[in-house]
Formats: sequence, C-alpha cells, structure tokens
Amino acid sequence: MARQKKPLPLIEKLEITDAGSEGKALGRWNDRVVFVPFAAPGDVVDVQVYKKRRSYFEGRIVATHKKSDLRIQPICSHFGLCGGCKWQHLDYRYQLVFKQKQVQDALDRIAKVPYPGIAPIIGAENPYYYRNKLEFTFSDRRWLTSKDTSKAEGGPEDTNGLGFHLPGMFDKILDIDTCYLQKEPSNEIRLAVRNFALEHNYPFYNVRNNEGLLRNLIIRNSSAGDLMVIVVFGKNDREKIDELLSFIRGKFPEVSSLMVVINEKKNDSISDLNVQLFYGKDHLMEQMKPAEAGQTPLQFKVGPKSFYQTNPGQAQKLYQAAFDFAGFKGDELVYDLYTGTGTIAAFIARSVKHVIGVEYIEDAVGDARENMKLNTIDNVEFYSGDLAKLLDEEFFATHGKPEIIVTDPPRAGMHPKVVRQILLAEPQKIVYVSCNPATQARDIALLNEKYEVKKVQPVDMFPQTHHLENVVLLERR
Ligand code: SAH
Repeated sequence: MARQKKPLPLIEKLEITDAGSEGKALGRWNDRVVFVPFAAPGDVVDVQVYKKRRSYFEGRIVATHKKSDLRIQPICSHFGLCGGCKWQHLDYRYQLVFKQKQVQDALDRIAKVPYPGIAPIIGAENPYYYRNKLEFTFSDRRWLTSKDTSKAEGGPEDTNGLGFHLPGMFDKILDIDTCYLQKEPSNEIRLAVRNFALEHNYPFYNVRNNEGLLRNLIIRNSSAGDLMVIVVFGKNDREKIDELLSFIRGKFPEVSSLMVVINEKKNDSISDLNVQLFYGKDHLMEQMKPAEAGQTPLQFKVGPKSFYQTNPGQAQKLYQAAFDFAGFKGDELVYDLYTGTGTIAAFIARSVKHVIGVEYIEDAVGDARENMKLNTIDNVEFYSGDLAKLLDEEFFATHGKPEIIVTDPPRAGMHPKVVRQILLAEPQKIVYVSCNPATQARDIALLNEKYEVKKVQPVDMFPQTHHLENVVLLERR
C-alpha cells in the first residue's frame, strides 16, 4: 500500500533573520533553517513549506504580519516570478550590507583563518542597466501570470512569449515586458522582435518537441557603443530568417553586428555552433581604462561566443583592486590562472616583466592572443588546458616559478591539485579573485599552510542579485 504523505507544514509568524547566501532569505524554525525566496530580513511571515530536506526547508510567503524596514517597492513588474533580480525588494544599501556579510561569514565559518578585516564593498554607481549581455528565450507556451485569463476560463488565445526562464525551470519561460538590467534599446529590440514574430505568425519554440522556428535572442552591447544582436533559429527557414533580420536592420540602425545561428540541437548552447554574420562587424569592441596613469587604454575584441565580464564598469574596479593588492614592482613573472580572454593579463602586463595566462577553452585563448596583439602587448604567453592537469612541476620548471599568482576560478573554486601546485610553487603573493566567497574560503583554508590573508576587498558586480566578487591578497609567511 502506498504510504500516505504527511502534508508539509505551514509555519506561522516566522521571523526572517538573514538574506541568505544563495539569495533566499531565511529564518529558523525548530532548529531548522527555512529558506524563503523574496522575503526580507525583518519580515514576520506565514510560510507554506514546499520543499523538505533533512537539514532545511524551503517555503513561500502566504501571509505577512510585519514588513521589514529594509524593503523597498521593486521597480520591476516581474519581481517575484523572474529569477533575474531576487534582491530587488531590498534597498541597495542593504544589499551591500548582506553581501559584505556573506564574505565575512565565509571567512569566519569556512576559511576559519585570521584576517585583518574586510574593506567596505565597492558598490555600483548604477544598480540598474549595468549588464552588457542578456539572453532571451522564445516559448510557444509562456508561463501564465495573473494578467492572463486563467486555464479555468479557457486560457489566453495567444500563449507565445519571449523572456527569461523561471528560476530553476528549463521549460518555463516568463514573457518579459521591461527588464531593467540592460540599457535601451534592449527592451525595444526584444519587444519589436516579439511583435514582428507574432504579426507574421513565426512559430515560437516548443522545448518538449524541439519544434518551432524562433529559439533565442541574444543582445550584447559595449561601453564603446557597439550593439550586437544574435537571433537563434530552430531550423533554416531562409525566407523567414531574412525577413526578420531585415526588419531588425531597418528598425534599429544602431545595431553594429546582426547575426544568425541555426540550432537544431536539444540544448540552447551556441558555443559549438556556427555564427553567420547577416550585417555589420563580426565582433564588438570593449574598452578599459589602464591600470596606471600614463598607460594607453585597453581595447578588447569580443566575438559572439566570447566571454566578457557582464558589468564592465564594476569589472574595471575589480581588476584595479586586484592590481593594487599585487603591488607590482615591474620585474615580476606573474601567472594569471583562469585567464578567460586574457583581460586581467592585459590589465597587468605593462606593469610587470612577463605574464603567463592559462585557460581551458581554446577559443578564449585564441581571443586572448588576438587581444594582446591589438594592444601591442608582447610580454604575455597563453597556454590552453585544464589547470588541474597542466599545472605541475614540469610546467613551473619550463616557464619559471612566478613571484605573483593571480587566480580567478569559476564558481566551483580551484581544484585541490591546483591549490597543491600553487603551494609547491611558493609565489610571494597570491591575488585570489572569486565570484563565490564560499569556495574561495575553502581554498584559503588549504592555502593557510603557507599563506596568510592580508587584505580583503569585495566588489558588487551584480546589483539586485546576491552575487558578488571578492578579492583576497595572500602573502607567504
Ligand atoms: N579572468 C577572466 C575569466 C574568469 S572566468 C576574466 O576576468 O574575464 C573563469 C575562467 O576559468 C573561464 O574562462 C573558464 O573557461 C576557465 N576555467 C574553468 N575551469 C578551468 C580549468 N579547470 N582549467 C582552466 N581554465 C578553467
């Protein structure tokens, strides 16, 4: 006989006490953590649990007894459903407070090493419109909201949508009206493309059957003023493709690169697909102030598949913080690990003797080399490969042991083998740039064998979200 499932609890008058490191606010109930997305510290709320795990619950607010003083009215009409800006209901000042706390908690609870204090987080001047890239998804069955006629009433006539995935759901797309993350004409382009497609009966993608013409719309811009639009189609219907792209070209002459991808695969990734240029340049140009006065500004060529930091204004501040921590004298050999397209390598190259950049995506290394040429930088070499395999005694014997290592790993942090090799190479200083204070703290605990934390500087690259970057200077004891 099937076991009767116990109903999940309704927790009354739960006090929300923290903003939570995964962007979900939390409270405590019977010694258990309860995550409550879209709540704010200081709220007192009734929470219906919808997920029960051994060590935590997750639930949604069903009634509010007290509203936190930290709350503000979110500017976006999609707040609460869209996964993009989970912290929009927190005043930006408090977002910064909780990010600072995230770094402190990680150092205290995970690294458990002494540190000299944390510099105040560098906040963004513009907490909106800061992203240089957004990727939207077409769906023939958008997520129905309270604006739609309900299913009971027969549902809306048109169920197409173009927007973002609901958090954690690959097949649920929220149709977006205005997004405050990327400056115009981002919204104008998305809405115009959607309306054109609806008027001309273009089939929107159906993820379950892998059918439909329109799949994704990617909009990228640069601080130098370039604008790239990439439309991803599910099949090669040349006539319809040309018609839509001609429409975009005519309506938005400011688009400097207009591109097409045909994606007949099941997944959305375009990294293994050919990008066709329909009109304009095959790349955009990004620019960056140099690290030191008197140096020429840096330029970067960014192709449709190349990675570039999504908040260039704050990236500049992040790189500057890393540069200042390193305190280069000019004669050093520096390793830039996880170099991507070589932006940090380029930023520091003119202030040191030699830089070695390592990165596993070969295309990124190709871009990195091209970027050095573009900036007439000739003291940087790049190697592509998995750092966990590439970095060994032989590598250090061939290329020299660095005085300083700059490392900027992905969210998972560094592989223990990479940490071990760094400990064996014994650079004087390590500048650790991280987008995940928890894995960074874990790695700092390992590096503690020979290194002490000298400086900590968080930088907010992603306002309205719980994400942040953190720079730590470690020095050999
Ligand atoms: N420093 C760059 C990119 C940082 S993102 C910048 O500031 O723009 C992290 C980079 O690490 C990505 O480019 C990713 O491709 C690379 N990477 C991830 N795992 C890796 C590994 N095991 N070996 C080498 N590179 C890796």
